[in-house]
Amino acid sequence: MGVIDLTDVVVVGGGIAGLSVAWRAAAAGHRVVVADPSPGSGATHAAAGMLAPVSEVTYTEEPLLRLGLASLELWPSFAAELSEESGLDVDHRADGTLDVAFGADDLAALDELADFMRKLSLPVERLTGRECRRAEPMLAPSVRGGLLAAGDAWVDPRRVTAALLAALPRRGAAVVRERVTGLSVERGAARGVRLADGRVLAAERVVLAAGAWSGSLEGFPPEVAPPVRPVKGQIMRLRGAPGFLGRCVRGVVHGSSAYLVPRGDGEIVLGATQEEMGFDTRVTAGGLWELLRDARELVPGVTELEVSGLSAGLRPGTPDNLPVLGATAMEGLLLASGHHRGGVLLAPLTAGLLAAELDGTLAGDPSAYGRAAAVCSPLRFHQAPAAHGSGNGTTAHHR
Ligand SMILES: Cc1cc2nc3c(=O)[nH]c(=O)nc-3n(C[C@H](O)[C@H](O)[C@H](O)COP(=O)(O)OP(=O)(O)OC[C@H]3O[C@@H](n4cnc5c(N)ncnc54)[C@H](O)[C@@H]3O)c2cc1C
Repeated sequence: MGVIDLTDVVVVGGGIAGLSVAWRAAAAGHRVVVADPSPGSGATHAAAGMLAPVSEVTYTEEPLLRLGLASLELWPSFAAELSEESGLDVDHRADGTLDVAFGADDLAALDELADFMRKLSLPVERLTGRECRRAEPMLAPSVRGGLLAAGDAWVDPRRVTAALLAALPRRGAAVVRERVTGLSVERGAARGVRLADGRVLAAERVVLAAGAWSGSLEGFPPEVAPPVRPVKGQIMRLRGAPGFLGRCVRGVVHGSSAYLVPRGDGEIVLGATQEEMGFDTRVTAGGLWELLRDARELVPGVTELEVSGLSAGLRPGTPDNLPVLGATAMEGLLLASGHHRGGVLLAPLTAGLLAAELDGTLAGDPSAYGRAAAVCSPLRFHQAPAAHGSGNGTTAHHR
């Protein structure tokens, strides 16, 4: 069994979380290796890419809102730096979200939400039905009003992944296309990972960023594995003409939230279902019917567009809907997971927080990273670990 040279950090999982962490850590001077058999193929591949903390606010999730707003602020420089370094555009657009309502009940709910948002000092503007249609001529004539969150933005997550994969080697970071099958533990501390091909990637620190798989990864101690579960989302891509929509449009249709996201190249993304189906990534007829039915209510013209893609992804959900970021109770093991519906939005915050933790500058940090670390600590779910691998060598823990 070969041992690959000792590196500083090995990141398990090359979705947007792991790749962003790797990029920022490498930029800070750490030697980084990412291990993933298929980087960018998880939830990130399916995601719509909305950076929409304001229009996605809920009455009970103010801590999540604060994280989202902090990360939204980081996105313009994150996108600009990444594009510059990779030479690839990530389609970052900050043209806002229009949340629309149809019936009297919907309107009342929208007004209540607008009051709540104003109390939180969130910048939103209430529009009449006519103003909504003036802003977005493709909207259904039955739209009675809307709420414009002008600061909301979006990116194309597939482009972000491609840009991160292009930027990493320029920072000296490597990507190993192998599945991780276990944690290498020495004297109770994480000191690398085992790969499916039998090699060991030795490292000073391990960042577990395997999305929905983080909670049940083979060979990781259950005491420090995050309580992450897969939440399935199906999504559809349509080919429209550029300018079909000018901003993200969303609304509650048939009791569930539906949205349309326009990309710079004319693609329109319709999302998304939310299903508790375990590790099932089948695209189903029922899921697609639901997406089209709801999107047609918002923007009837979508039925004229060509279908260009169907996918399903697994969001990494946690019991409190907040991510798990930073040091665990096991020395050397850090988490960057549990981002549920907001992993794209939260990527710059996640990357900066983990880079600060790896640099040893996070404790007492008064910035957004320090505040986020307090809210997202993995320790909130776990007590002190039992001793693991008390001798030297590699230990496997199956769960
Ligand atoms: C339909 C849908 C729409 C969404 N829309 C949005 C949105 O608009 N805005 C937003 O912010 N978020 C959105 N999300 C959520 C977002 O996609 C996730 O929060 C985010 O992609 C999670 O990123 P990740 O890197 O943690 O996980 P993933 O992207 O799932 O990456 C995990 C990686 O781990 C790898 N892996 C798994 N097991 C192993 C192993 N044993 N060894 C090595 N590697 C392993 C996988 O191959 C994968 O590449 C959406 C999600 C879905 C499903």
